[in-house]
Amino acid sequence: MSRINIYHLYPTHLNLYGDRGNMLALCRRAEWRSIDVNIIPVNPGDDIAFSRCDLLFMGGGQDSDQKMVAEDLKGRSRDMLKAVEENMVIFAVCGSYQLLGRYYITAQGEKIEGLDIMDLYTEKGKGRLIGNAAINCSLWEPPRTLVGFENHGGRTYLGPNLQALGTVLHGHGNNGTDKTEGAVYKNVIGTYLHGSLLPKNPLLTDYLLQKALAYRNQDSSFQELDDSLEEKAHQAALKLAGLQRK
Ligand code: GLN
Repeated sequence: MSRINIYHLYPTHLNLYGDRGNMLALCRRAEWRSIDVNIIPVNPGDDIAFSRCDLLFMGGGQDSDQKMVAEDLKGRSRDMLKAVEENMVIFAVCGSYQLLGRYYITAQGEKIEGLDIMDLYTEKGKGRLIGNAAINCSLWEPPRTLVGFENHGGRTYLGPNLQALGTVLHGHGNNGTDKTEGAVYKNVIGTYLHGSLLPKNPLLTDYLLQKALAYRNQDSSFQELDDSLEEKAHQAALKLAGLQRK
């Protein structure tokens, strides 16, 4: 039986707008394919066994929580970077996506040092970027649509060689100006999309599971599932974003 170990970082501190639902989606879709999923919650100070970690998930958070977890992350950056280079999967939403970059300057003007896993930085802007969002996601060719919800004060700017997760069809994305949303580096995906994102974007859920399986050389061929309910949720979110199916 295949098995995936998911380390869920800071579940009590980083959990905005239903981010925890991403874990449920990963578990259910794995379970439906008879893949054994083991979830290990990690709180500040807890150990992470990187030799066992296949997928690491972090949700969004308030500036104050980000500051706190950034302190804890500091001591882990070397191990994390090594695992990323070996193709471990990271899925990070909003506040934790910001922490994957070089730094984040908060609404109060405080500088929080990031993990420097992705070539990006985030700075406060005027007002918050809030609302339903949809992107054309470049993880697939041709690109596929992802739908979610965003609420962030920070504006993220990608370095010249960093690939965006997608282009904005509706909403604000990384900074409200350049039409990019999220970022991808190796098997690390950062995005501003909350939602929960994965339950209504089963394609991305499967993508993450398959990458996590492949990372440990496990069979990552998937049988199709009946996604009619997920598709309805996707359509409803698209409609909220003022768009039709792509
Ligand atoms: N505190 C960060 C910001 O406002 C992240 C918010 C979030 O995770 N939704 O930009």
